[in-house]
Amino acid sequence: MAFYIQKYGGTSVGSTERIKNVARRVAKFHSQGHQIIVVVSAMSGETNRLISLANEVQANPDPRELDVMISTGEQVSIALLSMALMELNIKAKSYTGAQVSILTDSAHTKARILNIDEDKIRKDLQDGYVLVVAGFQGADKTGSITTLGRGGSDTTGVALAAALKADECQIYTDVDGIYTTDPRIVPEARRLKTVTFEEMLEMASLGSKILQLRAVEFAGKYKVKLRVLSSFEDEGEGTLITYEENKDMEQPVISGIAFNRDEAKITVSGVPDHPGIAYQILGPVADANVDVDMIIQNVGHDGLTDFSFTVHRRDFSGTMEILKNKIQPHVGARDVIGGDRIAKVSVVGVGMRSHAGIASKMFRVLAEEGINIQMIATSEIKVSVVVDEKYMELAVRVLHKAFDLEQVVQN
Ligand code: ADP
Ligand code: ASP
Ligand code: MG
Repeated sequence: MAFYIQKYGGTSVGSTERIKNVARRVAKFHSQGHQIIVVVSAMSGETNRLISLANEVQANPDPRELDVMISTGEQVSIALLSMALMELNIKAKSYTGAQVSILTDSAHTKARILNIDEDKIRKDLQDGYVLVVAGFQGADKTGSITTLGRGGSDTTGVALAAALKADECQIYTDVDGIYTTDPRIVPEARRLKTVTFEEMLEMASLGSKILQLRAVEFAGKYKVKLRVLSSFEDEGEGTLITYEENKDMEQPVISGIAFNRDEAKITVSGVPDHPGIAYQILGPVADANVDVDMIIQNVGHDGLTDFSFTVHRRDFSGTMEILKNKIQPHVGARDVIGGDRIAKVSVVGVGMRSHAGIASKMFRVLAEEGINIQMIATSEIKVSVVVDEKYMELAVRVLHKAFDLEQVVQN
């Protein structure tokens, strides 16, 4: 007998028929004697619908009220799934995040989980219930409802698995595992049997939306056994996140390609090239709680230089304002220009550590397609480039092919 946390995403609970399917799947595991806690997302499209309702009423929705509202999507799913389980003669009980005592900080719309109270959950499990917990939400110490950021049901699943020491956290979704890249962009993408935690962390932080970044971080911190599987297929082992590199196997140099359209690029040109200039520009940006990703300072000419960096697209206009109104006059920069039609494409793989020439191969492949690279960043296990958004899909496809990530076609 094992103890599983099973998380089902929005598409997997997208209709009452699909919810009944999830119930049948859970019932099968339950009948095999396993203990199950199910975490569910809102039905697909529901969270977006709720957010647009809020935007119709308030230009900048109040974060506390927004959380009260967008947490309701998951509340519908837990009740429906519990009913569907009861129809199969299974004892089931639904809980919102607050009811099951998922304590978070008070950072509305992006709260972090601080603690989960085990007692109630353990008692229900002992009494033979399948627990159905709402993903994506908790409550802060004042009792206010909080949400965990888009895609946050993954984090609820992993956090429950960590707190309750489950045998495995299974993320059921609309693909049958983690692929070399998003199969919606590259149909030839290949499912990975395993992916190392480090690679998954890079992929998630570089924009792969298959798992929420915080879920991966949480899994790493508590060494949760984490697997991504299909909710539509009965067979299949999915993709397991591993904490050790498999030394027996020849490690591929590149495991996957991530991409991200959520960034914007800003250049402050003609700034005096002297010590402290980076701080003078980025200090006020950081003070405004804006995260900066890639940074480039060019070689100076005649005592002046250009300074470029990227921020999240939602922070673009606010950051431009800070730069134009506060920083440009203060540091005496010639101009502040920017654009939010850029994308970041990254190749990721732990095998890169022992292979030279990955970056140059990437640059050659992009050059052959006439794709201009605007910025570059590297680490031990990734190379990222910023390109014009209109070339993003092409870049992903040609790199996927050039690094031999495609499926082996069986004749
Ligand atoms: P859920 O609603 O179940 O949480 P998501 O939409 O959040 O599902 O995540 C699943 C989607 O992630 C897939 O449909 C796929 O398009 C996308 N995706 C992005 N990168 C990858 C990848 N490397 N492997 C598999 N799927 C990926
Ligand atoms: N329903 C939330 C969202 O759409 C959380 C999730 O699906 O994980 O972001
Ligand atoms: Mg998701």
